[in-house]
Amino acid sequence: MSLKHLEKKIDKALKKGQKDSVVEPVRLDRDSKFKFRCYPGVSCFTKCCRNMNIILTPYDIIRLKHRLGLSSDLFLRLYTEPELLGITRIPVARLKMLEDEGGRCPFVTKDGCQVYSDRPVCCRYYPVGLASLRQQEQHAGEEEEFFFLVKEPHCKGFEEDTEWTVELWREDQGSDFYDRMNREWMELLLRKRSFGEETEMPPKARELFFMVSTNMERFRSFVFESRFLDTYKVDGKILRKILDDDVELMQFGFEYLKVAIFGAESDIIKLREDILNATVKKIIKRRKKRRRRLERLAKGRR
Ligand code: SF4
Ligand code: SF4
Repeated sequence: MSLKHLEKKIDKALKKGQKDSVVEPVRLDRDSKFKFRCYPGVSCFTKCCRNMNIILTPYDIIRLKHRLGLSSDLFLRLYTEPELLGITRIPVARLKMLEDEGGRCPFVTKDGCQVYSDRPVCCRYYPVGLASLRQQEQHAGEEEEFFFLVKEPHCKGFEEDTEWTVELWREDQGSDFYDRMNREWMELLLRKRSFGEETEMPPKARELFFMVSTNMERFRSFVFESRFLDTYKVDGKILRKILDDDVELMQFGFEYLKVAIFGAESDIIKLREDILNATVKKIIKRRKKRRRRLERLAKGRR
């Protein structure tokens, strides 16, 4: 079952409280308990690593490309395909499954996941949570986080005796750490309402968002080899950090996206005074022009 299919079931189960769904229609908190164990001796070992809809987060991509010793460009070309999310069409990279091999994940072998210690956060969550972006959106505004269990028929891990709380499971799998790394990016995805419910992210913003989310080498060239530093003031200490540290650069990128796409204020990236003044003038000019047009239209109607 693909995760997209699963997401629909999760929606349905949460709405109707269905008993026969693969998703337990119960909202769990961090102290909720469940029994589960996944290990090479289980009869279904690696069965779940196919036909998955895995959206890669920026931190997933950094970990995987380092693990494989690839540039971001090559990693993206070999292992991902682009996808536009929902009505706002925010671009993301999806892990490409091997279609001619029954939808197998490119990293699975009979011995298990070949990138296990660097596996994506989506794989770390399983079988807890799996809150799709869509569901988080639907529940945006609710302070309280929630989880649920995914019980697919082929998964024998639930027949094992090892007991977990959601909290312990997340710590054990490293999903807490990955969530911390990706938090600001997730917040940007959920902020897409800034474009209005029905509006798409503009194409130029889409390009920036995709570059920062997937390709640290390109983003680094953009910062150091384009007119970026003529436009924005950035502290020298930060520049030194992001020069050769991908994770620092990724965090800086999230801040940049907030400023450049969502018009937020930042303590570390500021528009240079002259550029700021020119931008303000441009906005005032545009508004005056629009007001004059509206006045002309209003007069024409009288
Ligand atoms: S990355 Fe690893 S854990 Fe995730 S689907 Fe692929 S093989 Fe399975
Ligand atoms: S189906 Fe469940 S128990 Fe089997 S390998 Fe996948 S997660 Fe582990």
